[in-house]
Formats: sequence, structure tokens, C-alpha cells
Amino acid sequence: MKDIEEVKEMLKTRLTEKRYNHSLGAMKAAREIAKMYGEDEEEAEFAGLIHDIAKEFSKEEIENALEKYKIVPDEIEARQMGLLHAKLGAEVAKAEFGASEKVQNAIKYHTTGNIEMDTFAKIIYLADKIEETRTYEEVEELRTLAKEDLDRAILFTLDFTIQKSIRKKSLIHPD
Ligand code: FE
Ligand code: FE
Repeated sequence: MKDIEEVKEMLKTRLTEKRYNHSLGAMKAAREIAKMYGEDEEEAEFAGLIHDIAKEFSKEEIENALEKYKIVPDEIEARQMGLLHAKLGAEVAKAEFGASEKVQNAIKYHTTGNIEMDTFAKIIYLADKIEETRTYEEVEELRTLAKEDLDRAILFTLDFTIQKSIRKKSLIHPD
């Protein structure tokens, strides 16, 4: 695992200011929640910081990365390419920063969630949703819930994200 300052410098060159600030927020939130639930704070900080590393890939960069990491998008991902930033981010984090399997899984599932998520992955999933720059309607309730019960917080998040996806007529990923 690389020095966190180095990861920040690299992210600055690849993300917009808004997304970079979101990443810093997720880093802080991940550390706080990890502390509450007895998970490795440094690893959480790293995973929170780097989780959106592939979020601003161009279409071309996505295609190159899919080939490089031998990822075949599933039916939903093929139609909603934005989802791929999670799987690709996990690969980039490993290739460039030696991310552990635990960190990779957390990045991989940070958008859709997944039944296979361990406590660490749940923390990163929630850190992404409650970090300090988030302002959506349900965020305060979710911030409180995340401190009380990780699973209930995730179910609450899935409830409103699925509802929002339906309203936007987006596809719902089976994960
Ligand atoms: Fe993301
Ligand atoms: Fe994010």
C-alpha cells in the first residue's frame, strides 16, 4: 500500500475538483466508521480515497481498461457503462497501488452493493454515501443510522437508491 499523500497527488490529476473532494470526504468517513466497527482505519482511509479512481475514465479509457484487465461487462453494465467504474477501479487500485483483496472487493461493490460484502466493504459502501460533501434528502438520517447499524443503513440506502433508479428509468443491477 502506498503513502496516502501519494495517492492524493495522483487522484488530483485524474479527478475533477468536485470528485476529488468527494474522495477526500469518503476517506475521512471511511476512517471514522472503521474505527466504530473495529476495522483497519488505514486501509479504510485508503479504500475510501481511491474508490472512484476510474469514475472519470473516458469511453476510450474504459474500453482499454476492460481489455487490459480482461473484464467482460455483464448485460446491465454494457448498457450502463457508468457502473463499470467500480470493477475497473478495483483493478486499477490493485495494479497501481497494490490494493489488497479486501480493498478490491470494497471498491468493486461500492456502487451496487452485493450479498458478498464483508464489514469492511459495507463501511466503504456507506462512506461513499454519507461523506461530508453529500447533500441529498436522506443523508442525515443515513449518517445517524450508519453509526448504529451497518446492515440497516445499507438496506435503507438500497431502498432509496433503487427507488431513485426506477424514477430515472435506469436499469437495476441484480447485485
Ligand atoms: Fe463510485
Ligand atoms: Fe463515490
